[in-house]
Amino acid sequence: MVNTQEDPIIIKLKSHFYDLIDTESGLFHYDHIVNKMLTAIHSLLEVPGILLYKRNEQEQVLQFKAPIGNIDVEMFPKKIDIRSIPDFSRSGAPMNRTSLIEIEGNALMLLLEKKNQLLGCLIFEGKDQDFHISEDVLQVISNECGHFLAKIQELSTVLSEEKRYQQLFRVTEKFHSSMNMDSVLGEIIQTLQEVYPTFTYYLLLSHDNNNNTDLPIKDLEYDSENISAMQAYVTGTIQFEDSQSYGRSVLYAPLMGKQGVYGVLQVIAPNTVNFPKNEVEFISLLANTAGSALENAQLYQQSKRLISDLQLINETSHRLNSDLRLTETMKYMSEQISSSFGAEEVGFILLLNDGEDINVLQGSTSFFQVRESERYIQLMKDKIAKEREPLFLGDFHFPDSTEEKGFKSIMAVPMDQSGELKGFALVMHQQPYHFSFESFKLLQSLIHHSTLAFTNSMLREELERMVVTDHLTKLFSRSYLDKKIYSSMNEDQEGTFMLIDIDNFKKVNDTYGHQAGDEVIVQVANLIRKNIRGSDIGARWGGEELAVYLPNVGLEAGIAIANRLVQKVGKTTNPQVTISCGVSYWSKASIADVQEEDTYSALFKRADKALYIAKETGKNKMVVQKN
Ligand code: GH3
Ligand code: MG
Ligand code: MG
Repeated sequence: MVNTQEDPIIIKLKSHFYDLIDTESGLFHYDHIVNKMLTAIHSLLEVPGILLYKRNEQEQVLQFKAPIGNIDVEMFPKKIDIRSIPDFSRSGAPMNRTSLIEIEGNALMLLLEKKNQLLGCLIFEGKDQDFHISEDVLQVISNECGHFLAKIQELSTVLSEEKRYQQLFRVTEKFHSSMNMDSVLGEIIQTLQEVYPTFTYYLLLSHDNNNNTDLPIKDLEYDSENISAMQAYVTGTIQFEDSQSYGRSVLYAPLMGKQGVYGVLQVIAPNTVNFPKNEVEFISLLANTAGSALENAQLYQQSKRLISDLQLINETSHRLNSDLRLTETMKYMSEQISSSFGAEEVGFILLLNDGEDINVLQGSTSFFQVRESERYIQLMKDKIAKEREPLFLGDFHFPDSTEEKGFKSIMAVPMDQSGELKGFALVMHQQPYHFSFESFKLLQSLIHHSTLAFTNSMLREELERMVVTDHLTKLFSRSYLDKKIYSSMNEDQEGTFMLIDIDNFKKVNDTYGHQAGDEVIVQVANLIRKNIRGSDIGARWGGEELAVYLPNVGLEAGIAIANRLVQKVGKTTNPQVTISCGVSYWSKASIADVQEEDTYSALFKRADKALYIAKETGKNKMVVQKN
């Protein structure tokens, strides 16, 4: 018996095979090596042509893989049923038989196997007798090729696994260094496209995550077409959708973190009936890693947002507690809200008299100064007063109205203090669903934190107003009048000042009592208020002396007003009194004549002198003192 292992053909073949692996170790390519293997056999055996069939795992067939040499491919079937090969049991495992089978016509089949496992076969053109190689040697070749095929198959699997896990490792590293949702999602898609270029991918995400148009993102929606996707999302397990009719297989892998599922990865494998099982593990590993990365990114973005929210609240509270005027406070607030929430209009509405009256605070945006705003304010006021809850409206319409225009996105947050509804903030945008729910929550805490500062600010100004107002007459106090005259003499062009003293007032007190005296003072004060404009200042100078300052009013007009007052007081007071009035006047133009600056004290002295003259010359009159 010849030692077939030492046959020169076998030795050459083995060394060829060895070289194949060795030279290709850097750039391993399965199909390439298979071809080289066939070429080696082809040249050593000196046969016209060779065909390789490989076993298909799922079907009990050997499948045509590659031809080498001069061979008429059309002559051979694409598939060979394993059970059609003689001496094969039903399971397709080889029994006791030779590896060499003569096929009808002029071909030989050399079975390739490893450890009794059929891996495939080689088909040579030519009959048994055409070969110059003994059957024993062919048997050894069968073994060697079988082994080699099995080896490179294993190697190929190991290498591609290695490559995949390298990808997974690389992508995991990237995930953990990225806090950006979009880049995590992009990384998943890119990795999958590198590993399985023939598959198609989609990310199914819930609506609010969908903001990057570059990625294959679809909305995750409850519709009958996407039951499997929804199932993956809800159960957190991989789902398959194998479709015979479409000839494709779809996998849905949940992007799952520790706290929840962040979306679903859809992988479509074309031309397959069953999703390749060995890919499932890798894809689910990737999906889970991505889920954790998305979770991290989301938590990070959430915490960043919370920090900036807190900063906003902190900064606002700080500013509010610093010594701002109410108008400035509200202006600052409305600017903050406009920029933080992208609001178009921000209004602060104060409720007075138990909600009977409303007062739009200064500092609200311009829309709230026009009439159009009233119906919004009124409607929101009613809702808030009734429900005492903040309102978050995404697509607002007035009842019984079909108009398309107007403010669709509305947030209204009540300003409560010690359980009392002080007013509310109204934040609006014309675009529907403009504000996020996060913004709404932030606005609530912003308003909550600033209501105290804001009501304090109101109280303080109320107090100040009380100080600038004389308690009895409700005219301005003398200190306020002083301040106003000073600033008017700086800013305005002219002004008229009058000092008013009630004639023989002691007598009134003596006759009717002090209280009636007070009432007469109030009557005179009311007459003054009625006869001057809002920009004029009526003040109580002290005792039964009153004063009026008319900024930017010329002497002529001032005299007319003084005369009218003298007349009306004499006619309408009860008990009847009369007044004397001293008038003085200043103007920037006249300063040039006098060559010195007119002062408040000079202005006062002239009025006082005029009043004195009026008293001296019979009372119940007005006197002007020019200089
Ligand atoms: P004439 O104006 O012509 O100078 O006479 P007269 O009686 O008004 O004299 P005078 O202005 O000097 O005195 C004012 C008096 O008015 C003194 C005071 O008793 C009284 N009086 C001052 N303030 C008040 C006040 O707030 N209420 C009341 N009821 N009386 C006041
Ligand atoms: Mg007096
Ligand atoms: Mg008097």
